[in-house]
Amino acid sequence: MLISVVVPCYEEEEILERFHDRVTAEMKLVDHELELVYVDDGSKDRTLRILEDLAAVDSRVRYLSFSRNFGKEAAMLAGLQHAAGDAVVIMDADLQHPPELIRRMAEQHALGYDQVIARRTRKGDRVGRTLAARAYYWLINRMVDVELVDGVGDFRLLSRRTVDAILQLTEYNRFSKGLFAWVGFRTTTFSYENAVREQGRSAWTFGKLLNYGLDGLLSFNDKPLRAALYLGMTLLSVASCYAAWIVGVALARGVDTPGYVTLLTALTALAGVQMVMLGVVGEYVGRIYYEVKRRPHFLVKAANTGLSRRQPPNP
Ligand code: UDP
Ligand code: MG
Repeated sequence: MLISVVVPCYEEEEILERFHDRVTAEMKLVDHELELVYVDDGSKDRTLRILEDLAAVDSRVRYLSFSRNFGKEAAMLAGLQHAAGDAVVIMDADLQHPPELIRRMAEQHALGYDQVIARRTRKGDRVGRTLAARAYYWLINRMVDVELVDGVGDFRLLSRRTVDAILQLTEYNRFSKGLFAWVGFRTTTFSYENAVREQGRSAWTFGKLLNYGLDGLLSFNDKPLRAALYLGMTLLSVASCYAAWIVGVALARGVDTPGYVTLLTALTALAGVQMVMLGVVGEYVGRIYYEVKRRPHFLVKAANTGLSRRQPPNP
């Protein structure tokens, strides 16, 4: 069996060689063939140079390099497209995903599982981030149809048919956590202890995390639109009751001129709600905008992908 290891790399010059050594050493203990598919996500450091050097000395190394930074989702997609393995393991280059676990994944795969997920514990994370994550997953699992689990990321083994299924999902806005859950198949999960990043630093800023969270909420269904509708209807019925009451009072006791505060409060509250709803609608329109453009997910500036199965034949 051939196992492909797909590795998105963004500015990983400090750790890439060590990563490669660790994975290849680990794979010696496994009774399967190995292929490494590195995807350089437009790094400005020496990442591509290192990949070229690795490919020169190790024939199992394939790499792609993007013309600019397209994001980890695009890098994973490119890796999956070029992986030829019967099973594909996706892992980060920063050694936060212990290579020892590949063996365990392969064992589970041999038992017939299509997706073997390594779920990290949140040990060593800041309390604030852990709590935020917990709240987020509580919320998102009420909003989306697929089940998302805290600590479950992209570190997993996928069987060939799962990879092929994921490659059929060609949407531009890719939220892999959701896509993996959406395709289904036989899935099993095991936990591992979270390792602190050894070198470099995480590219995730608070703003990026927030956007990622919103993507998760919005890219899976239209429930937020439905929620906006319900909110509007609730406000409308409350407002109608209030209006009826005011009219009643006015008829019975004449018009009470002061009412500036009530008026202003109602006006601003309603305007705020309308803006939020407009924003929700706008988010979906924005997504449609990107989808209809049908732009490629990434552009490649250099590659050594061997005899890729997906290369079009020469005319
Ligand atoms: N990565 C990438 N493109 C990006 C950001 C990150 O390909 O724009 C890669 C990065 O090289 C690493 C993996 O995605 O292999 C996870 O990134 P990081 O460690 O920054 O994220 P975290 O571990 O904090 O989730
Ligand atoms: Mg990391």
